[in-house]
Amino acid sequence: MQLRLWHYDLPLKHTFTISRESIDVQPTVIVELEQDGVRGYGEATTNPYYGVTLESLTEAIGSCRDILEKSALGDPVELYEQLAEPLDSHRFALCALDQAAHDLWGKLQGKPVYQLWGLSTDHTPVSNYTIGIDSVETMVSKLNEFAGWPIYKIKLGTGQDVEIVERLRRETDAVFRVDANCGWSAEETVDNSRALAPLGVEFIEQPLPATEWEAMRQVRRESKLPVVADESCQREEDVACCDGFFHGINIKLVKCGGLTPARRMIAAARTRGLSVMVGCMTESSVGISAIAQLLPLLDAVDMDGAVLLAKDVASGVTLDRGVCRYPDRPGCGIELMEEGRRLL
Ligand code: MG
Repeated sequence: MQLRLWHYDLPLKHTFTISRESIDVQPTVIVELEQDGVRGYGEATTNPYYGVTLESLTEAIGSCRDILEKSALGDPVELYEQLAEPLDSHRFALCALDQAAHDLWGKLQGKPVYQLWGLSTDHTPVSNYTIGIDSVETMVSKLNEFAGWPIYKIKLGTGQDVEIVERLRRETDAVFRVDANCGWSAEETVDNSRALAPLGVEFIEQPLPATEWEAMRQVRRESKLPVVADESCQREEDVACCDGFFHGINIKLVKCGGLTPARRMIAAARTRGLSVMVGCMTESSVGISAIAQLLPLLDAVDMDGAVLLAKDVASGVTLDRGVCRYPDRPGCGIELMEEGRRLL
């Protein structure tokens, strides 16, 4: 295989704010793996919370060049096993490579990845549309700009969280889910769950800081709404840790290292009776099209990352008010629309 690495700055439609940060532009890298003239793509965004920068991604991915250039792609799981140890502390880089290997694998065989896994897309969950933190009036206008979605995910952690949800509830009958991104205490979470349950909220994502396990056990016992781990569930081994502390997990491909570990996490969660959601970052259609391959295995999905962009750099799956439409193309269905700045 030949390796190339591209850098893009993805411009957002609106400033996107969660409980700990605000962004207008999302830097991302796209891995390109080429074999027999066929190209597969995978993505990893930068992320200050997880300490991931353009430089660290470039260095980590570049360190695997020898392994990649000496291998011919067979099963992407075999390549993952070769890369997992050298990239153990660089899961975002591992994710971009694992996604690219899957896209290439499907393209070389002329079939979508989900089909090669034996899955059907006849019944798949619909994605939510995410509303970042802002003034209440701006959050209302963000919802109305994307009216008609069946589910909205509302970012909270503001000091006026219940008022925000009450105000948004006046606009729509859609399902709400909320994400505090570690911004609440245990007491606030239990109180908020009592106020939010009658407002049609489905679940609460990551209310407490990721390390507050004992407080989380209490929250799980007393909350009126299910609680779903995001920052507390990053890698394969974290699924077992979440059992008894959360009702479900939110898997992100960059956190765990790609499609290969994500499928194992889904299976592990199922044996423990945990619900499973896959979430996205603010990312292009490269990363979103990889997530789409997992849809038949999920209870819920948050894959609106590319919808939040003012300009995408690739084509692949699209969302029609939350419903995933698959392109008639093999692999993850990804075509790059423009070349970025070449890093490798
Ligand atoms: Mg989250």
